[in-house]
Amino acid sequence: MNISEQARQLILDQQNEWELAMKNYAGLKHVKTRKLAFDGFDMLVQFNPERIRSSAAKVDAKSVEARPCFLCRQNLPKEQRGISVLNKYKILVNPFPIFPEHLTIPYEDHTDQLIEDKFGDMLDLAKLLEDFTVFYNGPKCGASAPDHFHFQAGIKRFMPIEHDYKKGLFFRDSKNIDRLEIIQWSDYLRTILTFSGRDKDLIKKSFSMLFSELKTLQPAEPEPMLNMLASFEGSRWTVHIFPRKLHRPWQYFETGEKQILLSPASVDMGGILITPRKEDFEKLTMHVARDIFEQVCLGEPAFAGIVNDLF
Ligand SMILES: [Zn+2]
Repeated sequence: MNISEQARQLILDQQNEWELAMKNYAGLKHVKTRKLAFDGFDMLVQFNPERIRSSAAKVDAKSVEARPCFLCRQNLPKEQRGISVLNKYKILVNPFPIFPEHLTIPYEDHTDQLIEDKFGDMLDLAKLLEDFTVFYNGPKCGASAPDHFHFQAGIKRFMPIEHDYKKGLFFRDSKNIDRLEIIQWSDYLRTILTFSGRDKDLIKKSFSMLFSELKTLQPAEPEPMLNMLASFEGSRWTVHIFPRKLHRPWQYFETGEKQILLSPASVDMGGILITPRKEDFEKLTMHVARDIFEQVCLGEPAFAGIVNDLF
């Protein structure tokens, strides 16, 4: 079995040997989903109570320091088994799934969530896990362990963006540079740049150029705020980059009626809005979704300016 098949088998096996995994994967089958039908594309709202840990995670330095790190090897549940890859990552089953097959992929060492020198690993993992989309949440963009480097991966053909990418209806500008396709999206609620190509070094170089430029916009942040989805198919990588300007929308910090506990991360950017509370699941309208993405995504005109100067 290749690594991707081994990972899928691990998800099945762990449901037989680990009660928490069994319970939560079984629970996912009954999870409620609503569709928000925008003009030309859909978003899904998923009511997933088990995700409260992640959505409401306190990720300020003080709270993080006060808790044992749940991704460090010595703190993993005794039932949890993993697959070692690339000599430095462990593929684990995510016991609080959003996807019917959902992995967490922590780095071996307890080291900060910073992508710059690990972007190449993301491409390698996407290639190894060909049945999955690998994703990265920045330390202030949805990662619930900003102190322990990790990726996640979800089974393909689950997030609406995959289908929308194939249709290409929302591509505003697309160019080819040295056989790397660089695509800017528009009118899709989220600000997105997509790299697609076969040359890993070229994708790395292009990402690095973009990253440096975004860094200058947010000098006070540990890294430019972003979410990313990476996948590999037919010997090509596809990487969607979502530049961000805000961690959580104002609705998150409200109390009572006005509060909506939605903490946007890669999966939300991919078109699945995760609401751990029933009241939020019910009251999340298209208008609210649009408002939330406008708050957290870097504005399209500013981003287009950067991209057009670079490529
Ligand atoms: Zn750790």
